[in-house]
Amino acid sequence: MSFSVHNRKSGKRIEVEADETILDAGLRNSIVFPYSCRGGTCGTCKARLISGRVEYTHPPQALSDAEREAGDILLCQAVPLDDVEIEATELAASAEIQIKIMPCRVSAMERVAHDVMVLRLKLPASQEFRYLAGQYIDILLRDGRRRSFSMASRPQSGQELELHVRHVPEGQFSTRVFESMKVKDLMRFQGPFGTFFLREDSERPAILVAGGTGLAPIKAVLDQAIADGSTREFHLFWGVRARRDLYMDELLAAWAERHDNLRYTPVLSEPAADDAWDGESGFVHEAVLRHYDDLAAHEVYACGPPVMIDAAKTHFTARGLPAGRLFYDSFEFAVDD
Ligand SMILES: Cc1cc2nc3c(=O)[nH]c(=O)nc-3n(C[C@H](O)[C@H](O)[C@H](O)COP(=O)(O)OP(=O)(O)OC[C@H]3O[C@@H](n4cnc5c(N)ncnc54)[C@H](O)[C@@H]3O)c2cc1C
Repeated sequence: MSFSVHNRKSGKRIEVEADETILDAGLRNSIVFPYSCRGGTCGTCKARLISGRVEYTHPPQALSDAEREAGDILLCQAVPLDDVEIEATELAASAEIQIKIMPCRVSAMERVAHDVMVLRLKLPASQEFRYLAGQYIDILLRDGRRRSFSMASRPQSGQELELHVRHVPEGQFSTRVFESMKVKDLMRFQGPFGTFFLREDSERPAILVAGGTGLAPIKAVLDQAIADGSTREFHLFWGVRARRDLYMDELLAAWAERHDNLRYTPVLSEPAADDAWDGESGFVHEAVLRHYDDLAAHEVYACGPPVMIDAAKTHFTARGLPAGRLFYDSFEFAVDD
């Protein structure tokens, strides 16, 4: 049995299959709502239910009781129980891009920090894979589980995908990457996913905030902007613990040196005694606040651990950033079934 979902905001209507979420039905029909984790935890796909009923595949952790009572739903988890009407934003930018399952081969592995591996994945020459810089893929594990990783490379033909994988202690996939994966191993992934990409209809100065391997999609976004000859102002803040974690510091410093419209500020939260660090210290969002008294004229693109994203939401909006101009991917842990 299928139900119809009418989006009052765009006037569009989609048919949702039994047990399908509204987000998945939208993606199947090239209707893209803003979304990120697809696990009910980040809150990016929050929308308003006007009429009808939905149930959830996983508890919608990102909704407070007050939001649920007010009629907010999470499109990545909401499965209609009858015909529903919603009010939700739609994005045009990635609507033409097809989500596919693709094979790939590990073509290179480089351990760039004690807990970060840069993986390069070679795609079959016969199959095109289109995505927007900043999007992510789901690596499909043999037992049916999936793990999300952002592409750190911008889309190019004959492409290899670059991933930055942080080793999560006890983590199923990342432990395999660090302990047994080899060059030439085969994998499968699905993608591209997510709506963390540069909003190109804007010329506002963009503040880019990365935490740890949250650098990956931000590197892709910057690489794309540089390749496009963008003159927009970018200020990248990259927060890690100590100097040894700044695994792409030289590349970013070189980009900033070459491009007048790019500033780069590395931030260490726990510099080591022998780091001899005289740069920015503390949490990365605090460094942003020290540099910018008023964020009303900016856009912010933030990517990293959930705690960093929560801090960005609270503190940047308090400094005048309109909530709709904070774009983020929160690196949530996978929600396994
Ligand atoms: C959109 C998106 C993009 C991402 N991109 C990247 C990326 O580019 N690079 C990257 O390194 N990571 C990225 N992540 C995060 C990554 O997908 C997760 O860390 C993933 O779960 C790691 O897989 P794993 O199999 O190694 O660990 P898992 O097997 O998933 O779990 C690791 C362990 O941590 C425990 N755990 C679960 N939740 C928590 C928690 N909240 N706090 C502490 N411990 C917990 C689990 O019990 C388990 O033992 C991204 C996440 C999202 C949602």
